Amino acid sequence: MAPKFFNTLTRTLEEFKPINGNSVGMYTCGPTVYGPAHIGNFRAYVFEDILRRYLKYKGYSVKQVMNLTDIDDKTIRDSQAAGISLDEHTKKFKDQFFKDIDRLNIERAELYPEATKHIPEMVILVQKLLDNGHAYYSGGSFYFKISTFPKYGALFHMDIESLKAGARIDNDEYEKETASDFAIWKGWSERDGDVYWETELGKGRPGWHIECSAMSMKYLGEHFDIHTGGVDNIFPHHENEIAQSEGATGKKFVNYWLHNAHLLVENRKMARRDNNFYTLEDLVKMGHNPVAVRYLLLSTHYRQQLNFTFEGLEGAKNAITRLRDFKLNVESAKIGPESSAVKDSIEKAVTEFEAGLDDDLNISPTLASVFDFVREINAIVAEQGLSESNKKKVIDTLKRFDSVLGVIYATEDQIDERVEKLINERIAAKKIRDFKKADQIRADLLSEGIILEDTATGTVWKRKL
Ligand code: AMP
Ligand code: ZN
Repeated sequence: MAPKFFNTLTRTLEEFKPINGNSVGMYTCGPTVYGPAHIGNFRAYVFEDILRRYLKYKGYSVKQVMNLTDIDDKTIRDSQAAGISLDEHTKKFKDQFFKDIDRLNIERAELYPEATKHIPEMVILVQKLLDNGHAYYSGGSFYFKISTFPKYGALFHMDIESLKAGARIDNDEYEKETASDFAIWKGWSERDGDVYWETELGKGRPGWHIECSAMSMKYLGEHFDIHTGGVDNIFPHHENEIAQSEGATGKKFVNYWLHNAHLLVENRKMARRDNNFYTLEDLVKMGHNPVAVRYLLLSTHYRQQLNFTFEGLEGAKNAITRLRDFKLNVESAKIGPESSAVKDSIEKAVTEFEAGLDDDLNISPTLASVFDFVREINAIVAEQGLSESNKKKVIDTLKRFDSVLGVIYATEDQIDERVEKLINERIAAKKIRDFKKADQIRADLLSEGIILEDTATGTVWKRKL
């Protein structure tokens, strides 16, 4: 059965049908790398990870493209405030971003195009819009003329007639009330300092919205399946992407638009500008496990707001402990008779797991099915043990569930490999009496919640949960 997703464009649940057989093209608005991403941002990336993992679980092949916004108003502003070049400033946060997505066990997208490496594609797109009358030049910059695109407003469900056509807007971000012609190419001004490109459009830089139109169409084609982001992206960013892309190609841009609700703190959106955010690093430094953060973020339906609390994080930790204990309990179960109850429990759990996720990634019944399964199998293990073949089937089922949830197995494997490598580096450092390096490795791992212990037989490690 094909999954159903809630499409922001139609405001209905729609059965998912890819354009090309089994292959899915999916574009995800990635981080603006002007500071470390906060866990609100990661709510969006975890939701998108569950979506891609579930599509793969269902047998689709997924090509996900996630851009890195390394040039916009905010990256320029903050690099100037820090007194360093734009590249130097954004590089730091790009590296941090990849470290964080690995720790959250977010699968890597197929491509991470950077805006600064796609200026020629953006220039061509602006030229197309000029040629076909959707764009115009004014005072050194180029603007998209929204009155030339009657569908403008379709995504955020506003009638273009009801929008009071405001003045032109140069900022990348603005409110619905000021829906107006927006900048697609910004002519250079003092404010941009040394950040500019010399192009056929003159000296300047792209607007934020044109970046995603250019990069998505370059890698996924002019018409593709899924576009995602947080609800704050609906207007103006995604509305503008549709206008630019469809204005340039005359084709439908995207079939399914999926948007996640926000992560809140004390019932306000977690946002950098409100200074009410936690980064993953903040939480890890407090001793929390990144996978517990992942579980917390995925365990509420993506279209419902989620209020971040430390009690919630504690609950997430307990849930993971229950799942991991279950895995150990099954692996070490005594050999018992073949049982049809095991088969029944697996069948029921798989059916309910999929029914939940098929219904617009409805995670609550999905998680409930996993914990019912845990309870039922634990009872069988306690009573009579498991036959070898039952044990294998239970483990296979758990692995299959975890291919979507990503909280029981995969991180361990990735982290194991990296930790083993660092332990070996530490041993080598100690051999050459480089204790500073050895201590640093231990401290770095501890900051990730990994404790090293030197024993008589060598170094062992464990994870703080
Ligand atoms: P930005 O780096 O601001 O462009 O945001 C990156 C992604 O995070 C976008 O998809 C945003 O919609 C999303 N986002 C930002 N804040 C939150 C939040 N508090 N909760 C959930 N998603 C968010
Ligand atoms: Zn975008």
